[in-house]
Amino acid sequence: MIRINDIIEKITAYNPSVDVDIIDRAYIYSARVHEGQIRLSGEPYLSHPLEVADILAGMKLDVTSVAAGLLHDVIEDTDASPKEIKEIFGSDIYHIVSGVSKLSGLPLKGAQARQAESIRKMILAMANDIRVIMIKLADRLHNMRTLEYHSRSKRTEIAQETLDIYAPIAARLGIYWIKNELEEISFRYLQPDICAEIEQLVQKDRVERENFIDSVQQFIKRKMEENHLKCEVLGRYKNFYSIYQKMLNQNLKFEDIYDVIAFRIILDSIPQCYEALGIMHSLWKPIAKKFKDYIGFPKPNMYQSLHTTLIGFSGERVEIQIRTHEMDRVAQSGIAAHWSYKEGQHVDEKVSQAFAWIQNLVENQATVQDPDEFLENVRIDLFPDEVYVFTPQGEIKTLPKGATPVDFAYMIHTEVGNQCTGGKVNGRMVPLSHELKTGDIIEIVTTKNHHPSKDWLTFVKTVKARSKIRHWIKTQEKERSLSLGREMLEKAFRKYRSNFNTMIKSAEINKVVEHFGFKTTDDLIASVGYGKITPLQVVRKFVTKTDEDEQDSIFNRLIGRVRKKKPKTGVVVHGIDDILVRFGKCCQPVPGDLIVGYITRGYGVTVHRKNCKNALGMNPERRIDVEWNAEVAESYPVKIRVLSIDRVGLLADIAATINKEGANIVSADTQTRENKTVDSFFTIVVENTGQLKRTVAALKKVKLVQEVKRIEN
Ligand code: MN
Repeated sequence: MIRINDIIEKITAYNPSVDVDIIDRAYIYSARVHEGQIRLSGEPYLSHPLEVADILAGMKLDVTSVAAGLLHDVIEDTDASPKEIKEIFGSDIYHIVSGVSKLSGLPLKGAQARQAESIRKMILAMANDIRVIMIKLADRLHNMRTLEYHSRSKRTEIAQETLDIYAPIAARLGIYWIKNELEEISFRYLQPDICAEIEQLVQKDRVERENFIDSVQQFIKRKMEENHLKCEVLGRYKNFYSIYQKMLNQNLKFEDIYDVIAFRIILDSIPQCYEALGIMHSLWKPIAKKFKDYIGFPKPNMYQSLHTTLIGFSGERVEIQIRTHEMDRVAQSGIAAHWSYKEGQHVDEKVSQAFAWIQNLVENQATVQDPDEFLENVRIDLFPDEVYVFTPQGEIKTLPKGATPVDFAYMIHTEVGNQCTGGKVNGRMVPLSHELKTGDIIEIVTTKNHHPSKDWLTFVKTVKARSKIRHWIKTQEKERSLSLGREMLEKAFRKYRSNFNTMIKSAEINKVVEHFGFKTTDDLIASVGYGKITPLQVVRKFVTKTDEDEQDSIFNRLIGRVRKKKPKTGVVVHGIDDILVRFGKCCQPVPGDLIVGYITRGYGVTVHRKNCKNALGMNPERRIDVEWNAEVAESYPVKIRVLSIDRVGLLADIAATINKEGANIVSADTQTRENKTVDSFFTIVVENTGQLKRTVAALKKVKLVQEVKRIEN
């Protein structure tokens, strides 16, 4: 088992001035709480956190990371409480350790490969401190190194998850050596036969190949020196997994993969790179289409290098990359972003930016001297606009930040959304407006025949939920108008001793529908319900002239009354455009009053004041939300009562005052009482309550006026 002192030595080697006290304390604590626990390998459990800490130290991470590595399993696997970790080790380590535990707790078992990208993003989104991911990767790496102790099925499961999730994350972070090792081990367990075969093929002529590598390296180096170019020449085997990938993707036999060995020439400057290329091309014949100039034309992910393939000494093909030290460093640390280049996947811009950012950070981490500065950098929110949540079946859904159970429900299915009555987050009931967080498991409770609510529009975040709720409300309103229109038409036809239901089955109906400019009978009926046309207008198209004459006077009066209203009224009816609006005579609402609408047979909507006694007695099902339309300036009648002591010129003064405030008198009724008081009732027209108030106040100042009041009902 690795010793803590070895780890501390490693840390002090790259950071001599560091205080390793926290490492000591984390070690002692971890040893205590893991005491007695044994790994499958038979080793004490403590060996695992020690190995993880050693990997982190090997990556030259800060002491907080290494200490957190020692403690990474204590919350999940021991009796240690999160509170205790916070108290003993401070909030930083607590934050990281609980972040790692949270990742371990994700219900990823059995997640499908097609979700891999979502899972990777979810993991990165949850780890809002980049060190959480570093530790998770180190943890996974050590677990992979000791995978042999698991059962066969477990091994396959873990290896597949590593290949799908963790190796790509390592690649995106630019930690190539972890990515390669994770891939190699996973490959060995997932495709043992193929892996062994490749290994055997590589081994077969190993000595020969090593000699070949050696001679090519020597040859290149010598030729460069002859041209006064100082360089480094590397020759290496590609790893087994990438050989396999190449065989698979390009459908090649092992023998055909000529670049199993790749050479790299590293120089000081860009001109030297081109010079080296020229030398190589003059020595060996290049294969035309294989030359790529990524120095002149860098890849979008900043990768730079010259790639060429040549025919070597004895006819074999030699792949060579030529680049500067700086380019090599960038490529190694992952700025080259192999995750898009090698995996050949399309990655959306946002994701690619997020990773470029991390790669930069990882790259610069070595150069950041001030630990505080580093800490500032490691706190990340990679995907600030999204949350990743699970269905109860373990499927991941991506939602916009702030999304609620209603958004989730509509994402599953429109009917689930329409009938959702509650949401359970991680097993607990929450309000429908509850904000979802990454990693939550959501279950939607539905009730048959339940309907969406208008209120949902105030908190849903997804376009889908919004449009589905709106659509439902619209359909609902149409249905309501349909049944109202039908009711009104039936009644109107009865008055003519005729039957509406027979009429709409007759051949004439099509003509009538067309006459009004509608497509279907339902549209016609609904527009009667909306109040756009009156039942009488429809009746007239059917009934005979005599019948009409008989009723003419009444209906003309009714139509007259309806038509008198301007099409654009001073009231907005929610959800319905262009509906006829009438005002209750009983309460005479004026802009500024709180109002409410009632759908009325034959007149569309009648508007009353909210506290009108008549309105309060009406069927609440006909009630509809309305509000004043500030854009339309109209005058409205309102009744006021003025009580005064009688005197000469009183009425003239009152009339003058009303006019002065811009209001108009429509009618007046004055009664003189025995005790010399005068009781006057005026109907005046005003534009709003403000004008009414000013008028009332002005009237109160008129000489000998005792009382001025708006008449309620
Ligand atoms: Mn672990």
